[in-house]
Amino acid sequence: MSDACSARHDLAAAHRMAVHDGLAEGTWNHFSLMLDERRMLITPANRHWSLIGPDDLLLVDDDLAAARAIGLQFYIGYRIHYPLHEARPDARAALHAHPPYATALSLLDDDELLPASQTSAHFHGRIAYNDAYDGFGDPERQGERIAEALGDKSVLFLRGHGVVVVGRTLHEAYQDLYLLELACRTQLLALSTGRPLRVFDAADVDGMSHGDDGGEDARRHFDAMAELIGAAAPEAAA
Ligand SMILES: [Zn+2]
Repeated sequence: MSDACSARHDLAAAHRMAVHDGLAEGTWNHFSLMLDERRMLITPANRHWSLIGPDDLLLVDDDLAAARAIGLQFYIGYRIHYPLHEARPDARAALHAHPPYATALSLLDDDELLPASQTSAHFHGRIAYNDAYDGFGDPERQGERIAEALGDKSVLFLRGHGVVVVGRTLHEAYQDLYLLELACRTQLLALSTGRPLRVFDAADVDGMSHGDDGGEDARRHFDAMAELIGAAAPEAAA
């Protein structure tokens, strides 16, 4: 399978995984993956994520007029994702979603994901928060604003809206989105007791880091999920 084919296969599978993992909202939100410096694969509009296959993904570049002609829902996603990739060339994958627990956390006055669980510690120092609501509105420059708020982090909480997760690879970005939702769920469950959280010391959090394995763990998780939903790559299935 060529790299472009494999990218289409994996990005389509990521949409179906998001449905399986309760991270998706029907036909809304966008996942994107850069094939090179100009060409981006992105979610089509108006197709339920559980049905998205490799051929459904849209291939676009920096032609604004062509992107606008595809339709408003698509164009809004394009205007968020393309400038984000331009600002963060290290982030080949960018996932924007409204997962219920991460989004619920973004509604709170105190919306910080605290390093109180092993899973949330994975995100320590890797999250940015935007304080101003920036959801529906003029899509022009929305991507630039999001890129600015994200900075060099991996995760951006959008106040009262959802999250953006970026990664060097789709596998790493998907694993982070999946784990982020679990970490937010655990924090909200703990807070629902009304009792205070016990947050790890910074030294303990540092000790929980597994270091950079080059994305191997994320790739294995992605492959396992792909197998689970019947989307194993053809080579792997043969
Ligand atoms: Zn959104």
